[in-house]
Amino acid sequence: MPTILTILGARPQFIKASALTRSITRRGDLEFKQIILHTGQHYDALLSDIFFNELNLPKPEFKFLLKSEDRKSRLHEMKVAISEAILICKPDAVLVYGDTDSTLAGAQAANELGLPVIHVEAGLRSFDLEMPEEINRVATDKISSVLIAPTTTAVRNLNKEGIFGAFHTGDIMHDNAIHFTRDLVLEKAPSILLTMHRPSNVDSIDRLKSWIDSIGEWCCKKGLMATFPIHPRTKKSLISLYGEVWSKELEKINIKAVLPVGYIELLKLIKGSSLVITDSGGIQKEAYSCETPSVVIRRNTEWVELVNAGHTVLCPEPNQLSNLADRQNGRVLDVTDFLYGNGNAADEILDIISNALF
Ligand code: UDP
Repeated sequence: MPTILTILGARPQFIKASALTRSITRRGDLEFKQIILHTGQHYDALLSDIFFNELNLPKPEFKFLLKSEDRKSRLHEMKVAISEAILICKPDAVLVYGDTDSTLAGAQAANELGLPVIHVEAGLRSFDLEMPEEINRVATDKISSVLIAPTTTAVRNLNKEGIFGAFHTGDIMHDNAIHFTRDLVLEKAPSILLTMHRPSNVDSIDRLKSWIDSIGEWCCKKGLMATFPIHPRTKKSLISLYGEVWSKELEKINIKAVLPVGYIELLKLIKGSSLVITDSGGIQKEAYSCETPSVVIRRNTEWVELVNAGHTVLCPEPNQLSNLADRQNGRVLDVTDFLYGNGNAADEILDIISNALF
């Protein structure tokens, strides 16, 4: 039976893998075996184990405990460990998702050992080379054999780089959001879901303070409460900014910090809110899937069709937040444009993989 080694490492990848895994289980006609490798990039229980349990993902056959601190050595450490795993389990192909360091390490390890690389979420571009994710995307696409692009824009981006033959499917994150919210009866209430963890927003204390001040001021003015699941990276900066009383300081300005939540809880928060404010790649799309308008606190996005359709707006600077949040809050989205497919991308991807490789 053909075997695929799936490389996972970070929270969004666990979620992405759940759509394809459900499809593999459902499709008895397409027989192939999936082996899961967890690089250990996200090891915190709230960023990792919770998703394996909640999403019913198979237990990883390989799981590493990374020792390196800096990005370059960590990439190298992951690549070496993945190469060793490949030599042990001898897969027919290696599948990577998205744009994390685990994605690139997995693609490089497979490529160096002469194995086909399947890249799910190929062709996305923010055109911002200051984002490590952008470097990971470009480098992974160049060495992938089967490129699965979630949008026509992504296919065009690849063509412009001289990469042809990508397959256009919908988006598997959208599949998941549809699957897990299908039976959820939840009215939207005036409230905000806030997430923020990109290094460009949270690593500088001054920048983080400007965002918090502008979001808090807007929430207070409107009498709205923002729920803010805190990423460990953001928490570190908030402690430097406000000390151990950081969550009390946030609460004074209508921002309620909570621990990172599980995926289903996150979807409920998105679906029940009147506005999402985020710098997350995944959450801006989940907002669309849950028909909630959003403000993306970044200079750019790789999901440009959301901006073009007006489902989201980019907010590059904190002083623009108030106007843009006013504009988006409570808007009713028309999602009959099916920007990310109809919830069956995973099935299409499985067909593509089995036709292309086996
Ligand atoms: N997520 C979650 N709980 C949280 C925050 C995020 O389940 O508290 C999920 C959400 O589905 C999101 C995914 O994790 O799409 C990845 O989010 P993150 O913002 O970490 O990464 P990005 O998409 O920006 O790479």
